[in-house]
Amino acid sequence: MKRIQLLPLGGFPQEHLADLAEGLAREFLIPCEILSAVAEPSFAFNVTRQQYSSTEILAELARRDTPDTWRVIGVTTLDLYIPILKFVFGEAQMGGTAAVVSVHRLRDEFYGLPPNLPALRERLLKEAVHELGHTLTLSHCEDYQCVMSASHGIELVDLKSSRFCKACRSAVPSRAEVKALNGSRFVPAGRKVF
Ligand SMILES: [Zn+2]
Ligand SMILES: [Zn+2]
Repeated sequence: MKRIQLLPLGGFPQEHLADLAEGLAREFLIPCEILSAVAEPSFAFNVTRQQYSSTEILAELARRDTPDTWRVIGVTTLDLYIPILKFVFGEAQMGGTAAVVSVHRLRDEFYGLPPNLPALRERLLKEAVHELGHTLTLSHCEDYQCVMSASHGIELVDLKSSRFCKACRSAVPSRAEVKALNGSRFVPAGRKVF
C-alpha cells in the first residue's frame, strides 16, 4: 500500500515522530508509516561549512524507493545547506519522491530562547508539508499563510499555516485519487497505521 514513509536519520528524537506522522496523514489523506531509524548521514558532511548537504541526503533517500513508497521524508537534527544558501530548513525533489527536513533551526534554543515543544512540533509539520508540496511540483506561493510560502527565516515559518491555500491544494491528490492509488487496501487518513 502506498504510504508516506517517515525516516528518522541518526538520533532523531522519537517524541516528535508520532505527531508528525499523524499531521502528514491528515494533510495528504494518505497513511504515514514511521520507518526504523538509519545511521546519521555522515557522507553528506561538508568539513568547510560544518553542515550537511541536503541534496546528497535526498539522493540517498531516493534510492530507498519501495513499492510502498508514495513519498519518503527524512527527518534530522543536523544543520542542512545547499551551496547558494547559508542554510535550509529542508529540501525536496521537485516532482520526485524524496524530501528531507531538519529541526536544527526550528528549535527556539537555536535562537537563545528556552525550549518550546509545541512551537517546534508545529514548525516541523509545516516544513514537512512544505517539502512534500514540492514533490507534488508545487513552487513557492505568494499567499503568506499558505504552507507553500517561502520561509527563509523562523519568523516566516511561524507566520504561515500548515495548510495549503485553495490553489496549491489542487495539486494534492484528492481522497478519490488516493483511494484509486491504493485500491481496496486503502486505509483512511486519521486511522493510525504507524
Ligand atoms: Zn520551499
Ligand atoms: Zn498556496
